[in-house]
Amino acid sequence: MTNFKRLLLLMFLIPVCAEKLITVTEAKLPSYSPNAIPTGPLEPPIVLDWPVITQPISFHVLYKSDGTGNVLNQTLVKQTEKLNYAFSGKDAVKKKYTKPTNANIKFVVNSIDYTKNDEWFSNCALWNYQPTIKRALFRPNSYNVYICNVDVNLGLSLIPYQETKIYGYPNEPMPLPENHWYLGTLIDHKLLVDSKVFKGRWSQGLMLVHETGHHYGLMHLYQGGCIGDETYSDNIMDTPRQVGNPSKSCPQLKGYDSCPKLARKDDNSNYMSINYDSCRSHFTPGQVSYLRHIICDYKPKLAGLC
Ligand SMILES: [Zn+2]
Repeated sequence: MTNFKRLLLLMFLIPVCAEKLITVTEAKLPSYSPNAIPTGPLEPPIVLDWPVITQPISFHVLYKSDGTGNVLNQTLVKQTEKLNYAFSGKDAVKKKYTKPTNANIKFVVNSIDYTKNDEWFSNCALWNYQPTIKRALFRPNSYNVYICNVDVNLGLSLIPYQETKIYGYPNEPMPLPENHWYLGTLIDHKLLVDSKVFKGRWSQGLMLVHETGHHYGLMHLYQGGCIGDETYSDNIMDTPRQVGNPSKSCPQLKGYDSCPKLARKDDNSNYMSINYDSCRSHFTPGQVSYLRHIICDYKPKLAGLC
């Protein structure tokens, strides 16, 4: 890839796949933002019967002294069920099953810990706070999910092949090794399943499904917009090219085609969009094969024999 093409590509990439509502712009992020470029196979063979992967998950709940963010244990158990639906070929809302989209990843709760710390809760998404929090709470051999005030970023996930300079730790190996303490996901406490704040929008627990897709290497469908070939986008051939995040209701999105000169209409029911949870229902067969190949390449301990 030429430097020019790489530069053009980076203009459309979202560092650590922060989801934006409206206010925070990429320009405000520091200059050590990572270069997230899909490096997995462009056309991985579609595999229907992946061997099961058991993924331990560790929830780290940060909450304020007034109780804000102190989510219930049972919410996290229910949230884990949602991950299991989505990563076993099911529509996490309607629970329909389709074999080509079965990633066959089984999530089991490994640990849940609670930390009362107003400063950590409020600032967890800031680059200079993340290393302190993660080093204190990280559990090895587990998918670490930090629940706190991520606010307008909604969620932040480290992508396995991402070259991320860590604030205060400039000499860490890149990409980060499988069990590195910096890996994992931050998710806003208001975006978990049964959210009252985002009732009717993001209350089915699919934002963590989306972030977990990033954790296994999936990018947004709207990566790169309508410009360039597939390598400008999510690197997956069976997802359409599309623009932006409509974040609209399902009826508004029906038949939406943001790149009319390119093949296929938008796939707004894909888990890797950030549309309302009631609209999102699936990964594509290409996404499932892609993420399983990424797991083989970057998380061999988790994957076992590939
Ligand atoms: Zn995202």
